Order: sequence, then C-alpha cells, then structure tokens
Amino acid sequence: MTCKLMASSQLTELSVRKLLARRRLLAGRLSEPERTLRGVLLREGRSCSSEGCRCRRGELHGPYTYLAVYTEGRSRTIYVPAAARAATEAHVALTQRNEELLLEISQINLELLRRRALE
Ligand SMILES: [Zn+2]
Repeated sequence: MTCKLMASSQLTELSVRKLLARRRLLAGRLSEPERTLRGVLLREGRSCSSEGCRCRRGELHGPYTYLAVYTEGRSRTIYVPAAARAATEAHVALTQRNEELLLEISQINLELLRRRALE
C-alpha cells in the first residue's frame, strides 16, 4: 500500500492524463487531516536545578520525549508526557506521510501549469 513518490524530473515525462490520474491517486491516500501535527520528535536528557544532583556530573535525567515545533517564526520544544507519546508519534508520522503526498501533488500541479493544463 506504500506509494513511492516521484521526483519532479520523472513527472515531466508523464502525459497530462497520467499526471491527472496520479494526482487523484495521491489525493486519495491523504488521511485524517484532523490529526495533523507538524514537528519533530526528540529524545533528550535534562539537567535539573538542584545543586549536587548527579545530573550536574553529566548523568542527565530521562531521556524524555519532546516535540520540536516551528510556529510563528520560531521553534519551540514541547514536553511529551509518556502517556501521550504513542499518539504523538502516530500524529507526526501521519503528518509526514500527508505532507509528502501534498508536496508531490503540488509538483504535479506545477507541471500542469507549465503545460497550460492546470484547471
Ligand atoms: Zn538533577
């Protein structure tokens, strides 16, 4: 059920009819846009504020999971509680798949525009 994405150089070799068929196929594979969550999951150790803690000697606490997100022109890191980790991973993975599909749909539309076939 995986769909190998095509590079734009490959798209230029397809007929308009094939581009339209491929665009329809890709659009049909988009799933659950309501679960979109853009970001990158990180696993990191942290140090705390107490003097003399083992983390001050490099034995960090964790590792904990964080979601790095880029919004409103800056990146932030949000702590992901263990109970939310699986759901967060699923949302992020689904979003990456959808964005790959949207990227190729956009490249197809660009190719259609170049050929004056965008409707
Ligand atoms: Zn500590």
